[in-house]
Amino acid sequence: MTLSLDTVLEKALREQPFSREEIIHLLRLTKEAEQEKVFEVARKLRARYFGNRIFLYGFIYFSTWCRNECTFCYYRASNRLCPRYRKTDHEILEVSAQLAGSGVHLLDLTMGEDPFYFGKKKGFRPLVNLVKQVKRETDLPLMISWGVMPDEVLGELAEGGADWVACYQETHNPALFEKLRLHQEYDRRFEVKRNAVRAGMLIEEGILSGVGESPEDIADSIRTMKQMNPHQARVMNFVPQKGTPMEDYPFPHWSKEQIIIAVLRLLLPHRLIPASLDVGGIDGLRGKLQAGANVVTSIIPPSSELKGVARSDLGISEGDRTVEAITPIIEELGLKRASLEDYDIWVREEKAGLPKGFSSAGDFSIECSDCRGEAARS
Ligand code: SF4
Repeated sequence: MTLSLDTVLEKALREQPFSREEIIHLLRLTKEAEQEKVFEVARKLRARYFGNRIFLYGFIYFSTWCRNECTFCYYRASNRLCPRYRKTDHEILEVSAQLAGSGVHLLDLTMGEDPFYFGKKKGFRPLVNLVKQVKRETDLPLMISWGVMPDEVLGELAEGGADWVACYQETHNPALFEKLRLHQEYDRRFEVKRNAVRAGMLIEEGILSGVGESPEDIADSIRTMKQMNPHQARVMNFVPQKGTPMEDYPFPHWSKEQIIIAVLRLLLPHRLIPASLDVGGIDGLRGKLQAGANVVTSIIPPSSELKGVARSDLGISEGDRTVEAITPIIEELGLKRASLEDYDIWVREEKAGLPKGFSSAGDFSIECSDCRGEAARS
């Protein structure tokens, strides 16, 4: 059956469900004019739920140590080429205050699965205390991205002031997951997200594009995310990293990330969809916002000596990843920085709606069984 792009986009505007074939059709579009039609509808849907407001996230990658060996990641345990550091509480508090003062709406506290904390000796107590201090001193919503944390820590983090947990699958094809996240359990990462919701926190799910997946895999990820209904859904183009098994992979085309952002917006019009400065820097921001993103992530102060994840140094020392640098781009597109109150209200309302936000059972379905079956067959 031949699909008509206009018919699919009319369905999107009416917020009707999409078939797998319709999603794949959108993902396979290559003509600029056709992609622009999708972006235009994505912008309309963003405006329907968020007006012209854009949210900004500060990024604090406070430990680059990790016990894992994800094949796509610069910071995998065995990579001797990447810089390692573990910031002190004092340094983290200082950069938190700096970011809060610059006008970000949220602080994203990220680390790899640092053995220092994941080991029995140190444990998570110092980090839970740190979260409490950052909350006390900035009063901003906080996102935690520390990999597969023990369940009991999630409850303590929620009580300590954490609002969000990010724990990305990166793909929803279990066979590809095994190749990307070596020796890790596919279902366990879902459990972290489910338990974060049970503890009263919002969740972010994410995928990488350009890591050996097919358009069908991306479509299955999007369908799975539709079913999960995470509060924030991100896609990032893969950046090949020196010293890793995937260092010779080709860079995916920038438009691939944009069309996936737009399709995510079409299926999750009411959710937050980030434009990360980590991949294309400030030059890539315009295209991602035009594709329907409504959060700018990975804002890093130039003086912090902190790293990004995908492009560890891109634009940081030049001051390109600051609120000041990105504001003119946001405004040039007819958008505006949301107020702190706007974001706070959004987070509070979503948290208040958590039990009914995740299906009638008060929980999200952790996988779409037919998606998973199709993914495994492809
Ligand atoms: S992606 Fe995260 S868990 Fe995997 S190696 Fe990198 S820092 Fe560690």
